[in-house]
Amino acid sequence: MHEMSLIESVVGLIEDERRRQTFSRVRTIRLRVGKLGHAEPEALRFCFDAITAGTIAEGAELLIQMVPGAGWCDQCDRTVPLDDRFEPCPFCGSQVRMTAGDDLKVAELEVD
Ligand SMILES: [Zn+2]
Repeated sequence: MHEMSLIESVVGLIEDERRRQTFSRVRTIRLRVGKLGHAEPEALRFCFDAITAGTIAEGAELLIQMVPGAGWCDQCDRTVPLDDRFEPCPFCGSQVRMTAGDDLKVAELEVD
């Protein structure tokens, strides 16, 4: 499952962070998830519960913020919104190069 590896990398990131600053518990994890990345929030939550069991992040609240996609249109010479990875430019209809919206980032980590 795609979401499984995404959450695994999030947990890895939290463990790295723990080596830098000591904390005993993760209270909240705020994720920014690109809408074009095909990661389902429900699946992310499910994987989160499964993967964090027994780790420092167990019991943390997972907040998921979906981020819209964006692409670069050469014809319009500007960034345009994208609802789908292969969608044409909404202004001129030509092909758009996706520039944002398929990644997953930890936006905020609240720890004790
Ligand atoms: Zn265009």
